[in-house]
Amino acid sequence: MASPTPPPKVRASSVPDPTRSGGASGQHPGFAAVLDPLPIPAAVVTRADEVPLVVLANPAFIERQLMPGDACELDRKLLAELISVASRNDSGKARRPWTSVDPVKTRRYDVTAARIELAGLEWPHFLVSLIDRTSEIETHDSFRRETMRDSLTGLPNRAGFEDIVETRLAEQGTDGRPAAPGFAIITLDIARFSQINECAGGVVGDELIITVARRLMGRVRKTDVIARIGGDEFAVFVPLRGTNERELSRIITRIRDIFVNPYRLSDLEIQIDGAIGIALSKPGLSDCANYIRQSQIALKRAKRTRQAEIYTPEELDKARRRFTLETELRKAIELDRLELYFQPLIDMSNGFVTGFEALARWKDPDYGMISPVEFIPVAEECGLIVPLGRWALDRACKVLNEWDARAGEVLPIKVSVNVSAAQFARDDIPNMVASILRANKTRPERLCLELTESVVVSDPARAAKVMSALRALNVSLAMDDFGTGYSNLAYLQQLPIDVLKIDRSFVTHMLKERDKVAIVRAILSLASALGMETTAEGIETLEIAQTLAALGCSFGQGYFYSRPVPADEAYDYMITRMG
Ligand code: C2E
Ligand code: MG
Ligand code: MG
Repeated sequence: MASPTPPPKVRASSVPDPTRSGGASGQHPGFAAVLDPLPIPAAVVTRADEVPLVVLANPAFIERQLMPGDACELDRKLLAELISVASRNDSGKARRPWTSVDPVKTRRYDVTAARIELAGLEWPHFLVSLIDRTSEIETHDSFRRETMRDSLTGLPNRAGFEDIVETRLAEQGTDGRPAAPGFAIITLDIARFSQINECAGGVVGDELIITVARRLMGRVRKTDVIARIGGDEFAVFVPLRGTNERELSRIITRIRDIFVNPYRLSDLEIQIDGAIGIALSKPGLSDCANYIRQSQIALKRAKRTRQAEIYTPEELDKARRRFTLETELRKAIELDRLELYFQPLIDMSNGFVTGFEALARWKDPDYGMISPVEFIPVAEECGLIVPLGRWALDRACKVLNEWDARAGEVLPIKVSVNVSAAQFARDDIPNMVASILRANKTRPERLCLELTESVVVSDPARAAKVMSALRALNVSLAMDDFGTGYSNLAYLQQLPIDVLKIDRSFVTHMLKERDKVAIVRAILSLASALGMETTAEGIETLEIAQTLAALGCSFGQGYFYSRPVPADEAYDYMITRMG
């Protein structure tokens, strides 16, 4: 054995302390000089038969009760490891984090061992110092907790949810298998939340969110995780024992139940409903964000179908198509690849053409003909409806000019252009209309704008203001798809509406269903009472045209007269049917 016998263990302080220092043999006089200037707990340590030995410690080390045998003794194993690593390292240093199991307060330290280079030392000694990182780590942890938490409900937020779920998915049971062999991620959205928020105020909205959160917490199991991942959107992680449909449907029913009883908020009692989307786990896939996305896609469908929906991969295809549509539509608008078709509006009293509705068409080189029913909602969602709507109005005015030039006179016809609710909300419609009319030298009397009821429902006061401004320009206004929205008849008489367009769902098959005739009659008499004209959409047969004329409907539009056609064809149609 080559190693010399180390000194015996001593309890020592660099500050002379008769009770603790006790004049150790083998102590180098330089140790005190090393320890003295240190304000942090530090000790000189050496190794005896592979066992670490504290040779001298400073007062801070002793006060913190880090000495061997003391309450918070510095972990011997850790010390041994530090010394062994530091002896092998070129730098002569090693560092490890360590948590002291203090009976009063758990402390988190960074412990460093650094070899002491002093002349006359017979065997290696190390300066072991401890930096207390407790408050730093606590601050960091609480900050992290805060950023992972929704302050309103106290639930995890989206980031927190992903963090917890991914940790849970990585956990293994005692048998080494994943702790959650199957699971579902459920997203839940409160129906009409923004309306409630707007009408009843933000405080009530907050109260509703908190109450929903509370009810949810009462319904889920201990193993489930709930989070608030968006304004009125919650997510629930539900571990499943297997692909057990009954288990899932029981859970869904329990979640659904939170909407059974009305919500009492301040002095209101509201019955609310929610939509539920579900994504089921696939073996080997544990990306939480991806499951949330899938579940949200199913949620979108659930909002339409009003029942809980499970995500299917085809839906992703649809979502992807929507995304490609958005990119392609942007290109189509920029490259002027959209076309405007025209469908005649017929005066029911004499069969003459009085105008045309301009309808956008998109022929994509890859996708072929894409219906406005598909691309207008995409345009509305991504904001492209604003340039699209401006383009449609401008193009309609230009076509009117072309027709006038061809006929050699100002034709006695109007053009109707659709303005979607999203466009109405985002664009400065009166100014936009005025400037396009001015640019094309189009008389405002020749333009009718078709608005939908949703324009009025979402913000009645603003709608009234914008509509009056349009009326002041001398543009006429039609209420499109009338009868399909949340018609509040009270607003009708207050707004400057010239024409009610009866939605084609009431018209096309009206002769087969008595209810529909009754609705059409009601709309016609309402319009007449309010001094408005009427256009029936979706006239496909002569019988319907005759019935509507007999009922007193002013104008008709539909495949019976003509489908929407390109501008040239529309011109020819008009010339043969003009009064
Ligand atoms: P809308 O404004 O209610 O237009 C009438 C729709 O009914 C048109 O569909 C038209 O082709 C269709 N239609 C007309 N007569 C008949 C018929 O007899 N039978 C049947 N089954 N359908 C008939 P289209 O062209 O597919 O447009 C659908 C919707 O897309 C329009 O409904 C309108 O809301 C929107 N849209 C079209 N172009 C534009 C546009 O330039 N801007 C905006 N904001 N929306 C547009
Ligand atoms: Mg229309
Ligand atoms: Mg319509």
